[in-house]
Amino acid sequence: MCARLITSFNSIKEWKNYCFNTHSSYIKNRHFRKWVNKKEICIFNFSNLKKEDVKCMKFGMEDAIKSARLHFKVTFGDGNSVKDILNLTDEKINSKKLLKMAIEKRKKNHKEQANVFIFNNPIKSPSAVIKDGEALTYVSEGITIFSFDAFKKYPCNFLRRRAKHEVLHMLGLNTHHEDTKVRGYNNEVPCVMKYNAPVMNACGKCKDALACFWKGIEYATKKQFVKN
Ligand SMILES: [Zn+2]
Ligand SMILES: [Zn+2]
Repeated sequence: MCARLITSFNSIKEWKNYCFNTHSSYIKNRHFRKWVNKKEICIFNFSNLKKEDVKCMKFGMEDAIKSARLHFKVTFGDGNSVKDILNLTDEKINSKKLLKMAIEKRKKNHKEQANVFIFNNPIKSPSAVIKDGEALTYVSEGITIFSFDAFKKYPCNFLRRRAKHEVLHMLGLNTHHEDTKVRGYNNEVPCVMKYNAPVMNACGKCKDALACFWKGIEYATKKQFVKN
């Protein structure tokens, strides 16, 4: 994580307008358009997390979908179907390569859903190495990559909070709670969108951001995504 810049907004209205307008850069991306229309997040677990652990993560992802009031479903993918192209013997996984592989695979299968990949391997991105419960999310591509320590036991609530946090990023909440200050909200509240996802709930400011993002998407696509 690099140096943080706090952006200030003078009113709730200014904040909502800003969040409404963030759709414009994503909507131009054809991968983004495809995965949001598919309305599905498919989990591939290549880690030693047990079935019940991954279920905790699935609950977190469903929490995020519920917060956004979307119609997305969360499914489990067959890891073996992509294992052949993944070199898991590599100590570190290259995030760029994984991204490319995932997108090619989706195209081939005519299933352009969003994906969540879970590994024990550290993930190497151009800017950092992700490990021990950390994750990387690519909003345009609809891809989240988690890395967990193979020798650690993670509590269900931790997994659920982390999964919710990352999928909220994926669903358009692409800032962290601490990175903005908006006059009109109490900014000093617990929130799942704080860097370490300390609690399960999203605060009013972050919930409004999510709602406005999807209003922007609906405005740009002339399609309905949010439940009535
Ligand atoms: Zn985050
Ligand atoms: Zn928040």
